[in-house]
Amino acid sequence: MNNKNFYITTTLPYVNAEPHIGHALEFVQADVLARYFRKKLGKENVFFNVGTDEHGLKIWRKAKEEGFEINDFVNKYANRFKDFCKLFFVSYDNFYRTSDPKHIESAKEFWRVCSENGDIYKKRYSGKYCVGCERFVTEKELIDGKCPEHGVAPEERNEENYFFRLSNYKEKLLEWLEKNPEVLKPSQKRDELKRIIQEIEDISISRLKENLPWGIEVPNDPEHVFYVWFDALTNYVNAVGFGEDKNKLEKWWPGVQIFGPDNLRFQGVIWQGMLASAGLKHSAKLLEHGMVLGADGRKMSKTLGNVISPFDQEQKFGAEVVRFYLLSGISTFSDSAYKEDDLLNLYNSRLANNFGNLLNRVIHLSNEKEVEINNEGALEENFKYEVDSRVSEIKSLFEDFEIALVSEKIDELANFGNKYITEKEPWKKEVTKDQCTNILNNLSYLLKKVIELYEPIIPESTQKALIALEKRERIILFKKI
Ligand SMILES: [Zn+2]
Repeated sequence: MNNKNFYITTTLPYVNAEPHIGHALEFVQADVLARYFRKKLGKENVFFNVGTDEHGLKIWRKAKEEGFEINDFVNKYANRFKDFCKLFFVSYDNFYRTSDPKHIESAKEFWRVCSENGDIYKKRYSGKYCVGCERFVTEKELIDGKCPEHGVAPEERNEENYFFRLSNYKEKLLEWLEKNPEVLKPSQKRDELKRIIQEIEDISISRLKENLPWGIEVPNDPEHVFYVWFDALTNYVNAVGFGEDKNKLEKWWPGVQIFGPDNLRFQGVIWQGMLASAGLKHSAKLLEHGMVLGADGRKMSKTLGNVISPFDQEQKFGAEVVRFYLLSGISTFSDSAYKEDDLLNLYNSRLANNFGNLLNRVIHLSNEKEVEINNEGALEENFKYEVDSRVSEIKSLFEDFEIALVSEKIDELANFGNKYITEKEPWKKEVTKDQCTNILNNLSYLLKKVIELYEPIIPESTQKALIALEKRERIILFKKI
């Protein structure tokens, strides 16, 4: 990322289940940023990567359990993620799949480079392995002998593995964080990241193929396969030309990475160590979004019965309404509960009553009073100044990745327009035609800005709104629900 190009990537979800609301949040957040920067920098200067992580024991076992051939199984779920993207207007430039032969070659190349740099070695390892976590876990992490996250006892394993010398990069990573305090958002997580770096140990990066038939073979040692994370993480640079096209890589990397709260260790430490080993730059920005909790404020789980499906929500409210709520009502960087009442309130107050209402009032009155609007040359200077300064404030929030705040400020701008019209009362008989033209023309300018700013968040409705405003056609975009 530099001033001319913008590369953003989500994490790659595992394809062992349907897309959940947390994936939905991450994908639509990344989409908003991609859309904003496309408008700012031009379409050809933005690259937006999403995709699916398709190797690993969890996936292998789940495929067996459900009676699928592994390829059919991963295709089925990768397609569900594609369906999701289509439904929720996620405008990716690339859908990356780690079972793609091209990925396999690039991941092997990444391994070779780290190995040539002396950062990969072989060692016998025994310990407890949690299949759910796809890693060895320590005694300390267990509660009653079980993995606290998965509630199952880990399996005993004793095997020879390849290790990545992450410990080589401890000082370098601490220095990087020290020199780039802004690299991680939210800033409150910086101490946690620092602590994880300080606790760095070398990590196991391979499994025996006999235990894990579904993975990428280690170069020159086909009895071993990549540890799933070591394979999947490389996608961030493979997607933009690593091992294939230096100019392309130069153009896009380093990029912005967006990920969930359980992922800081992988994105902020392991991956950064891998980049250093491969002689690549660290990520430009790490954005850790919050967790979407159940309506009861607790972590969603099948046992609690508080799981919310993005597909169900789409059926109930429509994709844009759900998208709007995820981006506006769910905090961008901290955990929030997903509540349908909040969704309805936010939609009704901000879109139906505020933006939608203003749009209709202006179109209706301009037709009724037969006055000209959409005339930027005739704007009242003070009014334009007020709108423009709010617009630039909102743009800086976009560039600071503060999506929920962006949405709030756009709502305030629309509200400023509604107050203005109420105060000026252009429908009154005493108001001259010139005055009326002036008021409504000012408001058409404000509306155009509101539409432009909302576009990344609600792309379909804003397109309709723009046409309605330009043609001065009445339209009910946001029916109250
Ligand atoms: Zn686990």
